[in-house]
Amino acid sequence: MKKIFRIVFYLIAIGAVVFLFRTPLAQIFSILQNKYLPCNQPITYSLGSFDERFGVSKEKFLNIISIAKKTWEKSIDKELFIYAPSGNLKINLIYDIRQEASQKLKDIGITVSDTRASYNDLKSRYTAMQADYLKLKTEFESRVALFKNRQSTYEKEVMSLNKKGGASKDEYNRLSKEKNYLDTEFAEINKLQTEINFKIENINALVVVLNRLVSSLNIEVDKFNTIGGELGGEFEEGTYKEGPAGREIDIFQFDNEGKLARVLTHEFGHALGLEHLENAKAVMYYLNNGVNEKLTAEDITALRKRCDLFAR
Ligand SMILES: [Zn+2]
Repeated sequence: MKKIFRIVFYLIAIGAVVFLFRTPLAQIFSILQNKYLPCNQPITYSLGSFDERFGVSKEKFLNIISIAKKTWEKSIDKELFIYAPSGNLKINLIYDIRQEASQKLKDIGITVSDTRASYNDLKSRYTAMQADYLKLKTEFESRVALFKNRQSTYEKEVMSLNKKGGASKDEYNRLSKEKNYLDTEFAEINKLQTEINFKIENINALVVVLNRLVSSLNIEVDKFNTIGGELGGEFEEGTYKEGPAGREIDIFQFDNEGKLARVLTHEFGHALGLEHLENAKAVMYYLNNGVNEKLTAEDITALRKRCDLFAR
């Protein structure tokens, strides 16, 4: 009797362990399967974190994911991805400076396209905004210096009059006027500071987008610098990663639905195990921001090779 209890206990314990590690095990299995038996089973995907600030609904996002998935599937007439509410491949929409910058430019009426003309336009706006900013900064600094000067003179005068025991009517009037001036100037300086901060934000947004164009158009210039902080790193619209924690696609930036489909197609390519290709027109070209949404012959060859479809 005791023995049976023990066996039942062990079975429950094993069950609990398998249950607890169910998700990671499924993920590891999916990664191994993808590695050794690519294209054999469709990769299940689901939505991970989803940021509303992109202004796209979950339904729309899933539709666009479906366009990206079909782009690969049509090319070899095989189901490669399938949506499941807890699918192994998590697709995340992550909002950071990249999308925020593009949004900010839109808000101030600047439209951007991945063209040299758009780059040149942004660059001249950058030069103008930078000059404007430097002018305001100089004005700000000199006004602050002047203000500090007059403020300390005022304080010294007030202190010395207090020591003396009081001020004459004339002195009092003059100091009251000076106090008014200082209060008004302080408020004005604060306003100027706000205006400058606003300009800095716009310039920094412009820099983020300019640097994106520099890399997507392969322009030979030094990266533009932001004001007051390093944004650093390469601009990536999306990334694919896999590891013990699972497989994930992170999407950071897109200007329109076509671009989103393009980035997703590229990252799906990585999920299928494809590497980057040399042809700049290929979806699997290392710069994940081309305008070409269609697969090139190289993309399809790479997929067929990966799925081992040549022998058939
Ligand atoms: Zn890539």
